[in-house]
Amino acid sequence: MNELIKMTTPLVEMDGDEMTRIIWKMIKDELICPFVDLKTEYYDLGLEERERTKDKVTMDSALAAKKYHVAVKCATITPNKQRVEEYNLSEMWKSPNGTIRSVLDGTVFRAPIIIDSIKPAVRTWEKPITVARHAYGDVYKATEYRVPGKGKAELKFTGENGESFCETIYDFECGGVLQGQYNKDSSIVSFAHSCFRYAISTKQSLWFSTKDTISKKYDQTFKLIFEQIYNENYKEEFEKLGIEYFYTLIDDAVARVIRSKGGFIWALKNYDGDVMSDMISTAFGSLAMMTSVLVSPDGNYEYEAAHGTVTRHYYRYLKGEETSTNPMATIFAWSGALKKRAELDGLDELYAFGEKLEKASLATLEEGIMTKDLVNLCEGETQCVNTAGFIAAIRERLERLL
Ligand code: NAP
Ligand code: MG
Repeated sequence: MNELIKMTTPLVEMDGDEMTRIIWKMIKDELICPFVDLKTEYYDLGLEERERTKDKVTMDSALAAKKYHVAVKCATITPNKQRVEEYNLSEMWKSPNGTIRSVLDGTVFRAPIIIDSIKPAVRTWEKPITVARHAYGDVYKATEYRVPGKGKAELKFTGENGESFCETIYDFECGGVLQGQYNKDSSIVSFAHSCFRYAISTKQSLWFSTKDTISKKYDQTFKLIFEQIYNENYKEEFEKLGIEYFYTLIDDAVARVIRSKGGFIWALKNYDGDVMSDMISTAFGSLAMMTSVLVSPDGNYEYEAAHGTVTRHYYRYLKGEETSTNPMATIFAWSGALKKRAELDGLDELYAFGEKLEKASLATLEEGIMTKDLVNLCEGETQCVNTAGFIAAIRERLERLL
């Protein structure tokens, strides 16, 4: 047996629920611990432990991510009414991702894992397109009013120093609708820093698009803040790396994205990001192949899969039925976190391991060995395997590479 690859600083490990919790253990047992002297600070975010600790464990894990800068997270249940009954919860605990995001104040970047034999719906796309969604404010925090009939609507602001603003929105001659949206400079600034940092960290160009020609104050503010932060903090580094920051109108961006080869980050306001990220991920193929990383403006990284706990498969698994759940996005969460840890600690061997783990996983798919969800999407000959079979096939290839 070769010596295990060394780590110096622990990764923050956030365990989770259901099928992804099963996969989590398989990945560690088969693909990581046999090769790496894995150091983690472990937090169990499984719903039972969140209940036992009154959700303190989630907050603790988020603070640990802030302390150590790199975390890897398993999918977790966000409780709803049905889950409260199922798990006999004393409270409907908040979404762990929401809690972690509020501590790290980050932006979520989603990117597909792509392979040659699964063609994206857009033929020109050769490289992944990463979507960065500003997950704060706008229509998600709007105040709305159903106007019953004739009357005047005004936009009014009263400042703490007495300054005020009041303008008529519309003089209603009949019923209608009203909506008041807001965002904050501080949140837009964080969003911008996260985007520029992530572009540098992945050496990809950054596109940003809004509708500032129509929204001359609201969207214009987003545009100006990005521009200023870029010029003051990141321009030099971008030029050194040969990547660009590119702002354009959202309708122009949509056309360019469809005609592009991919390989860049597309930053979007909250609603645009919601819609466009679903469009991009569907066009690339499968939810099971989407990776996700939360990047905070001060340089903390939390890696995870974009999908949930795959409940339907878990219930089948509990009944002893065979399941073919795709572990790719969770494997890439691990490899991404290990590579980031290696980068921060200057550990070449650990970085190379992360790369090889990804290479072995992709090679397995390229050879046609895959889980059920991918078989239908794939061109050419395929062999459908269960999760354990798929992980074993990756391990074989990983051992050959090491
Ligand atoms: P989901 O777990 O993403 O699964 C939805 C469906 O997508 C599955 O039933 C499955 O389709 C397919 N799928 C997703 N991931 C797959 C994979 N790795 N391999 C194969 N197929 C996959 O979403 P959900 O069922 O709506 O949510 C389940 C739980 O996850 C919920 O409690 C929710 O709160 C939680 N959730 C957590 C996160 C997170 O922690 N980041 C994100 C989203 C949801 P088929 O059944 O057709 O095979
Ligand atoms: Mg959506």
